[in-house]
Amino acid sequence: MIPCPGCGAGMRFDIAGQRLKCDYCGETAGIDEVKAGKQARRSDMDLTAFVCPQCAGTIYTTGSEATSFCFFCGASVELEGRMTRAKKPTHIIPFQKTKEECKKIYADLTRKAFFTPGELKDPAFLERFQGIYLPFWNYRFSQVGQVHLTGTREKGDYTEHMSLSCNLNGEYDGISYDASSAFDDELCRCITPYQADALEEFHPAYLSGFYADLADVDSSVYLEDAETEVNRETEKQILSSFSGTHIEWPSDKSRAYHTTFEGASAAMYPVWFLTWRKDNRVAYAVVNGETGKVAADLPIDEKRFFLGTLLLAVPLFLLLATFPVITAELLIVLASILSVVTFAVYYASSKELAARETRKNDKGYQYRLKKVQEDGGMIPPKADYAGRGQVRMGIAPGILPLIGAAAGMIIRILNPVSDFFYYGGTLLILVFAAASLLRLVSRFNELTTRPIPEFHDREGGDENGG
Ligand SMILES: [Zn+2]
Ligand SMILES: [Zn+2]
Repeated sequence: MIPCPGCGAGMRFDIAGQRLKCDYCGETAGIDEVKAGKQARRSDMDLTAFVCPQCAGTIYTTGSEATSFCFFCGASVELEGRMTRAKKPTHIIPFQKTKEECKKIYADLTRKAFFTPGELKDPAFLERFQGIYLPFWNYRFSQVGQVHLTGTREKGDYTEHMSLSCNLNGEYDGISYDASSAFDDELCRCITPYQADALEEFHPAYLSGFYADLADVDSSVYLEDAETEVNRETEKQILSSFSGTHIEWPSDKSRAYHTTFEGASAAMYPVWFLTWRKDNRVAYAVVNGETGKVAADLPIDEKRFFLGTLLLAVPLFLLLATFPVITAELLIVLASILSVVTFAVYYASSKELAARETRKNDKGYQYRLKKVQEDGGMIPPKADYAGRGQVRMGIAPGILPLIGAAAGMIIRILNPVSDFFYYGGTLLILVFAAASLLRLVSRFNELTTRPIPEFHDREGGDENGG
């Protein structure tokens, strides 16, 4: 806590003024004025850790003010606080977007989402947006040296072969990845980048009035991704200076571009965070606290969805029925094509759903999971996230439309005299496809929400390597 020079009450960081402010007497102070204090010389800082009794998720503050609900699982519970210490990050980007601006950005997003439940648009619900500083790794690279490439250029009716060379002399700073296993990588990716030039030297005073999460993912986890990103950016720049040329890119890019890793530093970036809980699922919304970029899980209100689909389907059907060119033969072929498309959509959705449920593509989470397995030998059953996925698609409803399409093709080849077979077959195909789609729609909601997380004994701040 930083005491107010006027009245002694705790001050908080005021986003609009970018200064510390006292809510009781209105006194303000610049961050620079508190920077010289004792805290500044220490490499660690005092924090209060709040642990959720339901999911064991942990969030930190510099003060002791309690929170009455959990960010991770959305439970409305009083969180228990305990004192702890953590290593300071080296840099921070202070919040630039105020809560009011954040709520407006989110409201603009949900206004366009017609099928989203009304609850998610309720102003009282938006009040639950909380400011959190998330830990990030900030990677630095340099590239100095000559680059030799080959390329071709079309000149009229012949191809010109060229050898290209250029000098690289540059540095990359601010290539960043989130360092908390608790926050979904995908969600984080959606709201990055942050601007490296907004980085300030870290001071705990910036955290006053906000929450923070601590790093528990090693900086080595994203090193390769960061390097790939640097090389991709370099190629983009090379391409822009040799426009119109087809360049053959080298296979060992880092060697060709002299990409050298210069180090990773710990930083905290601002995020506005909102959690919605329904039954055993949660949906998250995040807004970049610097740029205002937004990403959200938007579940679908099934009643709204069916109503909307019906309103669209009826006029479409009436329109089709009045077309004289649609014969019974054509109808069954159209229905079969529709069925195959339905199957493809179903199949792709269930794949995506499975990857999301198990967080297969979340490197930070997988790193943590592996570590727990190594340390404890066995994952406690409650922490086995992969097995906790509650969404099971079932393959049978997915295959139904394929059976329908096959039946349709057989009827078309046999070419029966009576139109009855065509109409009967078409009806069957459509019923199969509809059954599959209904199943898909009822599961779509789970695509846009997540299972409630449960945390391992997750102690942050102890692995600030790099
Ligand atoms: Zn005061
Ligand atoms: Zn919780």
